[in-house]
Amino acid sequence: MESESKTLNGLFDTFTPNIIYKWNFEKHEYEEIINTWGISLIHELGEMTICANCKEPLLFDNGYTSNQWHSKVGFGYSVCEKCFEAEKMMEKSFKEGE
Ligand SMILES: [Zn+2]
Repeated sequence: MESESKTLNGLFDTFTPNIIYKWNFEKHEYEEIINTWGISLIHELGEMTICANCKEPLLFDNGYTSNQWHSKVGFGYSVCEKCFEAEKMMEKSFKEGE
């Protein structure tokens, strides 16, 4: 049973890690950000969370999967519509600038 709970704790660390990664569209590299907000990959529908980018309260159902805020294994965190649109604009402008 003990090993089972250790596995669950491992999963929790994966979903709510101490470090989250923010993609820098300009430099094409990840910045390591300390996850002081307890941003998590998993939520239930109907649950309140926060936008990974602006940290405003966000109903998980209304969140978008971020193209910029990722976990170590590459899953995207939830962001609000405003930040999601801003990410797309940023991505597009740096792509066009290449
Ligand atoms: Zn936001």
